[in-house]
Amino acid sequence: MDDPVDEALKLIQSKPEGVLQSELWKELGVDSRKCSRIVKKLEEGELIDRIEFKKDGIKTYLLRARQMPVNPSDLLAGDELIPCIGCELECVVEECHPLMDWMYQLAIVQTTEE
Ligand code: SF4
Repeated sequence: MDDPVDEALKLIQSKPEGVLQSELWKELGVDSRKCSRIVKKLEEGELIDRIEFKKDGIKTYLLRARQMPVNPSDLLAGDELIPCIGCELECVVEECHPLMDWMYQLAIVQTTEE
């Protein structure tokens, strides 16, 4: 089973408009106190924003992911990663600067488009 923090992040990321904290715990199947701890971890990790929100006069929080998961179709041209097309470097994916720079640029573009 997924780590509840990962599960909560995925759920929040799946809703670009955000998720109310008062509904998140029900969707995760945990109690509200545990949900608060999960949300605190995500907030401390700067993975989400927590915005005050009133629903039916009751104060809750709207949780929005700071960064959405990368869409795989943005990464591939055919079946090749975009920066790898025509690359003649000796390939060590874990240490590849062109790939890192490109992923970084992609994250910036996605953040500024929001
Ligand atoms: S070195 Fe980097 S850019 Fe080149 S093929 Fe490997 S992963 Fe792709």
